[in-house]
This record gives sequence, structure tokens and C-alpha cells, in this order.
Amino acid sequence: HAKVQAHVSHAVFNPAMHEQAVARFQLETDLRRAIERQPFQVYYQPIISLAMGKITGFEALVRWIHPTRGMVSPMEFIPLAEETGLISFIDWWVLREACTQLRIWQQAFAKDSASLTMSVNFSGLHLVQLGLLERLDQVLRETGVEGCNLKLEITESGLLKNATSGTEILQELKTLGVKLSIDDFGTGYSSLARLHQLPIDTLKIDRSFVSRMGNEGESLEIIRAIMMLAHSLEMDVIAEGVETQEQLSRLRSLNCEYGQGYFFSRPVDSQRAEELLAAQLQW
Ligand code: C2E
Ligand code: MG
Ligand code: MG
Ligand code: MG
Repeated sequence: HAKVQAHVSHAVFNPAMHEQAVARFQLETDLRRAIERQPFQVYYQPIISLAMGKITGFEALVRWIHPTRGMVSPMEFIPLAEETGLISFIDWWVLREACTQLRIWQQAFAKDSASLTMSVNFSGLHLVQLGLLERLDQVLRETGVEGCNLKLEITESGLLKNATSGTEILQELKTLGVKLSIDDFGTGYSSLARLHQLPIDTLKIDRSFVSRMGNEGESLEIIRAIMMLAHSLEMDVIAEGVETQEQLSRLRSLNCEYGQGYFFSRPVDSQRAEELLAAQLQW
């Protein structure tokens, strides 16, 4: 009987797996083709200083405009790009685009925006690439952006996987003045000792904690603990995924430095982002 059942579940399972593999292969083929035509676009989501209630920077988030499927989420194609090595092309393209845009905004809104920052997602895989420092330095020089206004966001898991050999490369990045953030903090398993060794400037608290802080006291305590940890290591904190006034108020009462989320703005195209800057919104 068991044998029959196994057989049946196989018959049901296999076509689905096959379909999934075909879909994945199709997406990979599309992505390779896309890279030649560069149908990518950078969206920008404001990052708000909670003390001032004002925009202090943006995070650059890549979008892929697929010829038939429309906008494909980075959640879908970034992992694929990392597996296939195409991530190198994407991240460097986004970096250059975002730095060019930052320079334009700094000049257009010079008075309050000289210190405007740009956060760019950077796969941990780049940390083991040769010539990283030179390449980064070149982008900064060509776009006229100061290192201190660029923040590279590396996920907690990407950091652990690729920087295990030591912190030299991160230390070297710091010589360019570039800031380093740990993205999605709280979802990986970094030990405190490890964290202490890394020259990180900012922790980005994963939005799963922020979204639960309203109804579960526990999440609030986790955020409080992360903030204490960050501050004792002289890092500042960005709360991701702020969606409500209540979350904002709680984060403020915890003295969280920065917030980012739909409550302030969704990621928007450069034109809309510029309008947000020009409007000098106050939260
Ligand atoms: P991330 O770096 O943690 O970026 C934040 C993600 O959360 C973005 O999703 C953003 O749209 C979303 N988000 C922001 N505020 C809220 C909110 O209030 N509620 C909810 N539900 N979501 C919010 P997005 O743009 O789909 O990007 C997903 C992930 O893809 C990013 O997560 C990042 O890990 C990766 N990614 C995006 N662009 C790049 C890139 O250029 N290079 C690399 N390597 N990864 C990228
Ligand atoms: Mg990020
Ligand atoms: Mg994040
Ligand atoms: Mg996240």
C-alpha cells in the first residue's frame, strides 16, 4: 500500500518540479538576455532621521522590467543572479546609477542635502572579488560622490558567508570612507563576538521585528536589545518596514536613529523621489 502511495505522490510531484525547473531556466535565460539590453531601473526609498523627521538619504532598490512579465521583484531575481554570477553586473550598474543620482540631488538641494546619503545593496559575494577597492574608488571619483555619503548594505547572511576569512576587506573599504550597514539584521546568526570585530556603522533591523512590535511585547524587547547592542558597539540603527504611526512613535521612544518604510514612502522612481526631497516633508 505504501508503495502505491509513494508512486502516486511521485506522479503528482514530478511534473510540478519539472515545471519549476523550466520556469527557473526561462527566467535565467531572460536575465542573461536582459543584461545585454539593460532594462533595469533604480527605485529609491527615503530613509528618515527620526529625531529631525526629515529625509536624510535613500536606499537604491533595483527593478527589472521584463518584456512580458512586467516588473519582476528583486526577491525573485537577485537570488538567481547570485547563483549565476550575473549579480556582479547588476550591483555595479546600480551602484554607478545611484551615485550619479545622489550627486545630482546633492547639487540641486545643496543647502540641506550636502550630507544626503545613498544606501546601495551589495551582495556579500563581491567581498571576495579581486580589485573591489579600485573599482569602488573609481565609481566614487567618476561620480563625484564622497565615500562618507555612500552606505553599502550587506545582508547578515551574505556577510557571514563571505567574510569568514577575516575582516581585512571590510577594513580596506573603510579607507575609502565608505559606510557599511548590515541588512536584515536579526535574521542571521551573527555572534556578538563576530559583530564586534566587523567595522560596521549601521544595523538595519529586519522588518519582521518592526511589523510585530505593535501587538507582541517580545518584538519590542528584541528591538530594544538590538539597539542597546548597536549603541554599545557605536553603531546606529535603521528600522526597516515602518508602516504605522504607532510603530514610528515606539521607535522614537527607543531613540532609534532612522526609519524606512511604507509609512514614509514606498520605493519610487527618481522623479518622484526628487519631488519628495523638494517637498521637504516633515514627519
Ligand atoms: P532590502 O535591502 O531589505 O530592502 C528592503 C525591501 O523591503 C524592499 O523590497 C522594499 O521595497 C521593502 N519595504 C520597504 N519598506 C517596506 C514596508 O514598510 N513594508 C513592506 N512590506 N516592505 C517594505 P524590494 O525592493 O522588493 O527588495 C527586496 C530585496 O532585494 C532587498 O531587501 C535586497 O535584499 C534585494 N535587492 C534589491 N535591490 C538590490 C540590488 O541592487 N542589489 C542586491 N544585491 N540586492 C538588491
Ligand atoms: Mg537593503
Ligand atoms: Mg533590509
Ligand atoms: Mg529586508
